Amino acid sequence: MPADAQFEIYALRYAGPLTSSRALLMWNQGWEERVQRAYFVWCLLGPGGPVLVDSGVAPRYTAGRDLPNYQSPASLLGALGLQAGEVRHVFLTHMHWDHALGISLFPQATVHLHQAEHDFWLGDPLAGRSIFQAVYDPGVSQSLEAARSRGRLNLIREDGEIMPGLTAVAAPGHSPGIMAAAVATAKGLAVMGSDCGHTFRNYAEEWPSIFFCDLRACLRSWDKLKALASSPELLFPGHDLAMSLEFPEIAPGVTRLV
Ligand SMILES: [Zn+2]
Repeated sequence: MPADAQFEIYALRYAGPLTSSRALLMWNQGWEERVQRAYFVWCLLGPGGPVLVDSGVAPRYTAGRDLPNYQSPASLLGALGLQAGEVRHVFLTHMHWDHALGISLFPQATVHLHQAEHDFWLGDPLAGRSIFQAVYDPGVSQSLEAARSRGRLNLIREDGEIMPGLTAVAAPGHSPGIMAAAVATAKGLAVMGSDCGHTFRNYAEEWPSIFFCDLRACLRSWDKLKALASSPELLFPGHDLAMSLEFPEIAPGVTRLV
């Protein structure tokens, strides 16, 4: 891989912190303990322009949602000198509302999504059951159909490179077709695991949050992602507030991870 096909990785905290029982983030542990988490999108800056990993939530979908200190993911890009219209690629790890309700903010972008995730939420009757609908929003379907009608939906069937330095890696378990982004960086291969682990601790202790649809698949996916990342510190979770607190801050809510 050419040395120039490397990315810097930024975490954009679009909401949070918010507090819950630790048992939400570490399944069935620490019911009485209170812990914090936050909501993020990630921006990869490389030679081919910015790539967003996940899209967050657009302002029009925030009503009734517990999103303290919400800022639009589009406006957070301003801290990196970017406007939403410059984003040509959204790597959508999965279709849960907190990751996929921001697609409409980036109308110039091609949405890269795993076929299995697409087919489950848009085609499997089980997705209509209340336990799945609790983490879904019909606005996601509408946004994806809009991207499809513009010719900007890229459904991924196999692990492989999307562009130099950025590889899609299927990692089911949290949701049926969630995929991680393996990203070439100056520190080695980083893996944006999104909600494969909500926090660094989920990966370290190989213990999921309460949000999984297939526990056996989770375990196999962790093995796969851990083997890929050049070091454990380069395997990034979906909702760990440490991504805001323990990395250099570029602007309020925006930190550089790599
Ligand atoms: Zn999430």
